[in-house]
Parts: sequence; C-alpha cells; structure tokens
Amino acid sequence: MSDPGALRTARDLWHRQRVKRLVRDRLGRGTAHLVSVRGIECPDPDCPGPATEIRLVNLALVESRFVIHKPAEKVTAADVSALI
Ligand SMILES: [Zn+2]
Repeated sequence: MSDPGALRTARDLWHRQRVKRLVRDRLGRGTAHLVSVRGIECPDPDCPGPATEIRLVNLALVESRFVIHKPAEKVTAADVSALI
C-alpha cells in the first residue's frame, strides 16, 4: 500500500462503508433496505466539488436518493439524520 492512489482508494472504500453503517443505524435494524453509497461530483452547478450519494432501495424496490454535499470522509451521523 505504498501507492498513494491505492491508499486513497482504500480510505475512500472505508469511509463509504462507514457511511453505509450510519445509514443503517439511522434506519433501524428492523428495516430491510439495500444501501449503496458512492462518491460523485455534486450535481448542483452552484456547489461544485465532491459529494456523496446515498441510494436506498426498499423491499418494494422503491428507490430514494440523497446527496450530501461533502465527500464521504467528512459525512457525520448528523448529516445522515438531517436527510433520512
Ligand atoms: Zn453540492
């Protein structure tokens, strides 16, 4: 892991997993959702830069998407609670 690119990828993966866990904690253990988290460029032209997209799919296959306007490594439990 001396390659800085690989290290960044590993750290990013770790933070995406951390955000998934925050989302699952927020939803509660009883609810079954598929949770996916990915890093995106913010879709808002007034807010350029990295953002985090959270996608939830429930058992009825209804999808919800949320964007947090910061990279995954800066997302906190409070950010998740404010959205979901
Ligand atoms: Zn943004």
